[in-house]
Amino acid sequence: MSPTPARRPGDRGEVSRFHSPDFPGAQHHTPKPATSHNAPTLAHIYPPGAAPIQLPGALTLRNVEDLDAMKEAIEGKSSATIIGGGFIGLEVAENLRKRGMEVTVIEGGPQVMAPLDPEMAGIVAKRLEDNGVKVVTGTIVKDISELDSDVVIAAIGVRPATELAESAGLETNRGIVVDEMMRTSDPNIYAVGDAVEKRHANDGELTLVPLAQTANRHGRLVADVITGRTTKAKQVLGTAVVGVFGLTVATVGWAEKTARAQGRNVRAIHLHPANHAGYYPGATTIHLKLVVDADTDAILGAQAIGEDGADKRIDVIATAMRGGLTASDLADLELAYAPQFGSAKDPINMAGFINDNIVTGAKTVQYHEVADYVADGWKLVDVRTPAEHTAGTIDGAVNIPVGEIRDRLDQFTGEKVLVFCQVGMRGHTAASLLHNKGVEVANVDGGYLTWSLAGGA
Ligand SMILES: Cc1cc2nc3c(=O)[nH]c(=O)nc-3n(C[C@H](O)[C@H](O)[C@H](O)COP(=O)(O)OP(=O)(O)OC[C@H]3O[C@@H](n4cnc5c(N)ncnc54)[C@H](O)[C@@H]3O)c2cc1C
Repeated sequence: MSPTPARRPGDRGEVSRFHSPDFPGAQHHTPKPATSHNAPTLAHIYPPGAAPIQLPGALTLRNVEDLDAMKEAIEGKSSATIIGGGFIGLEVAENLRKRGMEVTVIEGGPQVMAPLDPEMAGIVAKRLEDNGVKVVTGTIVKDISELDSDVVIAAIGVRPATELAESAGLETNRGIVVDEMMRTSDPNIYAVGDAVEKRHANDGELTLVPLAQTANRHGRLVADVITGRTTKAKQVLGTAVVGVFGLTVATVGWAEKTARAQGRNVRAIHLHPANHAGYYPGATTIHLKLVVDADTDAILGAQAIGEDGADKRIDVIATAMRGGLTASDLADLELAYAPQFGSAKDPINMAGFINDNIVTGAKTVQYHEVADYVADGWKLVDVRTPAEHTAGTIDGAVNIPVGEIRDRLDQFTGEKVLVFCQVGMRGHTAASLLHNKGVEVANVDGGYLTWSLAGGA
């Protein structure tokens, strides 16, 4: 059935009827005219969502019906391959593994969880493997008959459902084009949610962010607009979280790789603090990465992974980003503290301190730059204890514990020195000592832990 052509802009007061190819006979609800003088007399609200990209023969997951079909398909089966290592793929992998199935995740890109940087995604891959999920990366599946598996599920992304909008003559790009009030190219038709293009808060450019908070917020916004309030959509940050076998994996804004691809001068900060005071029982590590615009000190994004408290830290950073705080401002946030909930210096404050150290002159080197520095003649010094050094270090490092640096300054004469510790803190102390003695020195950001999480880059 062909859709009725869209009304032209400004053409108000008519009842238009859309017939969807997916929902034959369905009609748009026509709300009663709003009472406010500046409200439209007729509004059509169009939230068709995003449809999973299909791979012939593979199951997909969008709704409860898909879930029922999946439950039926896995009944009595022992192996499953999930194509796609993103949010939905990993959630499905965990659930099927917990049902006792042999599970393989095949990801076309170089890592699972594409929104993360590789050294952070490695933590997620390890958690999957530790729980018996086989992870294959860098492999694009074109034909599922190649796979030796009882069930195949494709979780390879979603595509804005723009078909009806296109057939109705509305302007579309990668998604449905809307203005700040969610009006389509026909101002009496509003579109919201996964199907529409949004603007990213980091650069104001068009992007697709298929997430529930944004869809819900836009729904409320349209309700405001059609009842006469003048309100505009905020640009999006893409704040997201997923659980993977007990790990919370949360992200906001851009990853470092995205920021670099956008041509930004990036300052990356890695830290590995405890979720709450270390002396209080049950403390666990949060792996936190902050991505900062080095020219403006603006926070461009963050990633946090841990057993507990990662989501809280990302939510704080998302709030800081929305409020326009700089990375250095994070040092001064007054965050609730009692030993079982956090630390007097919360991980967020610590990220701000590290940023402030760099802004005020401390030099850090990223894990992937270490080899180049060593090749360039920098002396690599492990400032941890001999026991830590013996348990594992970066090739070529000499061990001078931080407590001995003052007494062994003669060993640094005329050297350019690259120090590292476990997570970056003792390294910063060592670097400060050496810097004050006139030595050219840098500290490996995030320490040995970041370097080893990246696979000993
Ligand atoms: C398995 C899964 C897990 C998810 N988990 C999360 C999460 O944890 N956090 C998060 O933020 N987001 C999550 N999402 C994404 C979130 O569900 C979407 O961002 C959100 O639902 C988008 O809302 P929407 O209204 O745009 O689209 P939808 O919720 O998809 O709703 C669109 C509806 O419109 C219907 N429709 C489509 N075309 C027509 C038509 N022509 N006529 C009539 N009806 C039509 C569709 O059938 C659908 O019911 C998840 C998505 C999936 C699939």
